[in-house]
Amino acid sequence: MAYEKREQLYEGKAKKVYATEDPNVVIVSYKDDATAFNGQKKGTITGKGAINNRMTNNLMRRLEAKGVPTHYIEELNDRETAVKKVSIVPLEVIVRNISAGSFAKRYGVEEGIVFDEPTIEFSYKNDDLHDPLINSYHAVALKLATWDEIDTIKKYAFQVNDFLKKTLAECGVTLVDFKLEFGKTADGTIVLADEISPDTCRLWDEKTHEKLDKDRFRRDLGGAEEAYEEVMRRLMGDR
Ligand code: UDP
Repeated sequence: MAYEKREQLYEGKAKKVYATEDPNVVIVSYKDDATAFNGQKKGTITGKGAINNRMTNNLMRRLEAKGVPTHYIEELNDRETAVKKVSIVPLEVIVRNISAGSFAKRYGVEEGIVFDEPTIEFSYKNDDLHDPLINSYHAVALKLATWDEIDTIKKYAFQVNDFLKKTLAECGVTLVDFKLEFGKTADGTIVLADEISPDTCRLWDEKTHEKLDKDRFRRDLGGAEEAYEEVMRRLMGDR
């Protein structure tokens, strides 16, 4: 089935979303634009859109095969993909295996502490409030999700972590932490949505501990383009 782009529905920081002739299908188009610190820092990572599109699709196809439902339908070209239209659950779901970023800052610990078990936390997706940390009682009180939906989201998030951690370890990459977003389809099914890419994961080279993710951009380390390409090459070969 060849989907065609109709009107633009939405433009976010890293992607645009277009309608198609099918009301249950939208097309996401990945941009090279990079932002950090709630949009205060802006730049471009050349080639990022295509890498994030292809990497996300590759991982979502493999996750579907493992029983995690996703919004993925079909890759249309280097930066565009047809996905199921969902209403996004306004929670950023963050899984951590190693301390870093806001966790290290909040609790006053160094980065790099390896946890015995992965942790999970939610942020309320709200730019005006700077995506504050939220617990599940508050999320339910605010009707952002039901208890059943939160249980399902947690289960899928840990399944994604198990798969991603193992898959990346096989190519010499350590999965430190990552952010997922989930959506609800027209019939109320919870599916994994958004993306899984070096924009949304912290990835360290297993041997050198070199950062292979968006922290290169956030922290002005240089070499973001090369790092993204390196992760894709290790994960997907030359495909
Ligand atoms: N993350 C993301 N989008 C956000 C916030 C975080 O993709 O709006 C990802 C981030 O790349 C990292 C993980 O979620 O892999 C945990 O981020 P953290 O809470 O440490 O926040 P940060 O250090 O990005 O402020």
